Formats: sequence, structure tokens, C-alpha cells
Amino acid sequence: MAAVEYQSPGTVAEAIALLAAAGATARPLSGGTDLVVQMRSGRVRPGQVIDLKRIPEMIGISESDGGFLIGAATPCAVIGRHAALRAAWPGVVEAACLIGSAQVQGRASLGGNLCNASPAADSAPALIAASAVCIIASGQGMRELPIEALHAGPGKTTLKTGELLQAIRLPAAAARGADAYLRLIPRTEMDIAIVGAGAHLVLDAAGRVQSARIGLGAVAPTPVRADAAAAALVGHLLDDAALGRMQEAVRAACSPIDDKRGTADYRRRVAGVLARRVVQAAYSRALARASGSSS
Ligand SMILES: Cc1cc2nc3c(=O)[nH]c(=O)nc-3n(C[C@H](O)[C@H](O)[C@H](O)COP(=O)(O)OP(=O)(O)OC[C@H]3O[C@@H](n4cnc5c(N)ncnc54)[C@H](O)[C@@H]3O)c2cc1C
Repeated sequence: MAAVEYQSPGTVAEAIALLAAAGATARPLSGGTDLVVQMRSGRVRPGQVIDLKRIPEMIGISESDGGFLIGAATPCAVIGRHAALRAAWPGVVEAACLIGSAQVQGRASLGGNLCNASPAADSAPALIAASAVCIIASGQGMRELPIEALHAGPGKTTLKTGELLQAIRLPAAAARGADAYLRLIPRTEMDIAIVGAGAHLVLDAAGRVQSARIGLGAVAPTPVRADAAAAALVGHLLDDAALGRMQEAVRAACSPIDDKRGTADYRRRVAGVLARRVVQAAYSRALARASGSSS
């Protein structure tokens, strides 16, 4: 690996100034579980890495307006141990806790998972389903972006040179709503998803789906927000007919590739099955939360 300049700023402002000075040759470093592997293989050759892990606003989880602000460099292990976040957004926490192993989760962050821009990144479908928002910092100030607008293609984000993903914001959890995340991998652990599916449902007092969001991973060049599939559930109890229409719409939303983990056709079928299971899991959680909130 060629010599690389290492910087360890203590504030977002310092990190942004370093990024602006170095331009496109600099790379932010969160956990390094993607970046260091890519540097070792020679796939990326940054002149400078800017370590984000000493920046207090980027490490840690705070509650804000009933929701949560997750620093982009917060390790997944910290996310997994946060009881209030787990209670409010179990699907998002499930996704973070599926990334790699316990060792990987000690370093890996949601910011790195998103900015590495793998179509199979586990956090993306769960965060799309949860209506999460990217808080982006640069010399021009702050801007916000829905998670589903962050990815531009495999390995590419819509971040501009000099921009940093500072945090991920999750809204307040609905009293009659809940989320869930499921993935299929070729082995029992430590592999990349063949398909990942996240769902968030909010129910009315009669148990009908009032609103729904479904996110899919590894079925297209970028993570997918499957709006037609979510719409197929709205106004219905979770009956077979509604689930069947949802599954059809999920398959139609996929544009997968054939690769060593599965064919395009297999991925489309699995996406429908996983979406059904994850929607059922979110529905059960939402019912349980609703009965808790009305008792
Ligand atoms: C053994 C192993 C198993 C893995 N298993 C999984 C898995 O099951 N599921 C999965 O989804 N991934 C998996 N991964 C990939 C990786 O661990 C995750 O993508 C992880 O979340 C990356 O986070 P990080 O903090 O280490 O990112 P880093 O490696 O630090 O960064 C990744 C990329 O994002 C950029 N970046 C980082 N932070 C920011 C920021 N705040 N703003 C702008 N750009 C930024 C970096 O410059 C780099 O290009 C695995 C990796 C390994 C080595």
C-alpha cells in the first residue's frame, strides 16, 4: 500500500476544511472495514484519509424531536446496544447488527455502509423503510437528503466533492407502527445479501395498514424504495390478496443481475418471499406496539 497521509480532526468543521483542501484525493475514514480493504487491494488509492472517529458529533446516538440522530461514524456495536433505539426502530438495529461479525461491528458504521454505496449494503433498505434522512455537511453548510437519494450506482453516491455524511436522522416512531429487516445470504453469516428487505408499517385502529414503506437491497444498481409494493398494502388488513399484490409489485421493482450469489430470476423470487416475511414481521410488531399504546 502506498504512503497515505492520515488526519484525525476533532470537529466536523476541521474535517470539512481538510476535505476541501485535499479535494477528490481525500477519503473520509469511519470504521475502515470497506476502505482499508479497498486500499490494500489497490482498488482505491487516496492521498489522504480523514478519520472521523474522534469527532463527537459523528460518534454516538442522541434523541432529537422524538426521533434519533445517529452519528455517521458510530460503530454498529454501539447501535446494537442502544436500548431506546432498538425499541423504537428494531428493523434498523437488526440491519446494523447483521453487518459482518462482532469484530467488524466494533468498527463498521452506518455512514460507511451507506457511503461505500454497495447495492447490497444491509443498512440501506432498513433506513429507506424507516424514512431516514442523511444530514450532509460541507463548506457550503448543511443539507438534508432522503436515504434513497444518496446512491447513484454501485460504489457511487450523490455526495459532491467536499461533502461529508455527518449523521442519519430517524423520525419519531409511530405509536401504531413498527419496522423490520430481513436478508438472505448464501451462508449463515459473514456474507453479502442475495436480497435484503426492510419494511415499516403504520396501522389504523382496526389493524388495517394506514401507511407503508418497503426498501429492497441487492436487486438493482442502487437500493430501491418500492412504492407500488407499499401502496398495495395500504387500506388492507394483511390478507393473502394484499400480500400477493405486494409481492408482485416487489418483483416488478427489481432489476437484478446474475452473479455468483444468484441469478436475476432467483433474486426476483427471493425478493417477493422476503418482502412478504418482513412485512409480516413489521405488522406483528406494529400490532404489539398498538396494543401496548392503547392499554
Ligand atoms: C468481513 C466483512 C464482513 C462484512 N459483512 C457485511 C455485511 O454483512 N453487510 C454489509 O452491508 N456490509 C458488510 N461488510 C462491509 C462493511 O463492513 C460495511 O459496509 C461497513 O458498514 C462499512 O462501514 P465503515 O465505517 O467501516 O466504512 P469505511 O470503510 O470507513 O468507509 C466506507 C466508504 O465510505 C466513505 N465514508 C465513510 N464514512 C463517510 C462519511 N461519514 N461521509 C462520507 N463518506 C464516508 C469512505 O471514504 C469509504 O469510501 C463487511 C466487511 C467485512 C470486511
